[in-house]
Amino acid sequence: MTFKVLMATHNRGKVAELKSLLPGLPIQVFTLADFPALSVMEETGITFLENAVQKAKIAAEFSGYPSLADDSGLVVDVLGGQPGVHSARFAGEPGNDQANNLKLLRLLKGIPFSQRTARFISVIAFVTPQGQVYTAEGRCEGIILDKLQGTGGFGYDPLFYLSELGKTMAELTLAEKNKISHRGKAWREIVPFLQTIFQE
Ligand code: IMP
Repeated sequence: MTFKVLMATHNRGKVAELKSLLPGLPIQVFTLADFPALSVMEETGITFLENAVQKAKIAAEFSGYPSLADDSGLVVDVLGGQPGVHSARFAGEPGNDQANNLKLLRLLKGIPFSQRTARFISVIAFVTPQGQVYTAEGRCEGIILDKLQGTGGFGYDPLFYLSELGKTMAELTLAEKNKISHRGKAWREIVPFLQTIFQE
């Protein structure tokens, strides 16, 4: 028997990540590419949790498959939690990492490192067609630098400094990032739950 799951994303990388975390399970992962009517998912919540649950619920109701969705972003303390749920479109245009980083640098200009504390947050929601909701959250603490450092990763990674590693997120390999990242932690929390559900 094959278990079917819909991941409410267009991101093939996230699908590959999920499959690698569920080794040995006969699981078939669908994405939004398989459900064109769902291709634009609204994110109207004011928290990561609301957005993740909203997306997973819509996906489960529409498809009839158990569905997963995630929402993540950067929370900067001195900016009152900004960019938060607006992380992808902080500078206006969705997904323009360079513009987002420049805006962040501009807003933090002159602020000492002691006040530049921040965290990445990721929330993953799993919703069944029967309406059961399960969520997991992962966090990763860091400091926002005053210049870009490193070329790996994406988004705010070149500005996000991990004091205990002495590197930015953009200076880590993918495997190193997955070990400590907000998304890695949230996935590792939800995977045992998925295994139980599927094994039942
Ligand atoms: P999404 O939840 O994948 O849509 O991510 C929202 C936005 O948060 C991204 O576009 C990035 O700007 C930011 N973000 C989320 N996770 C990361 C990360 O691991 N590194 C850098 N930026 C991230």
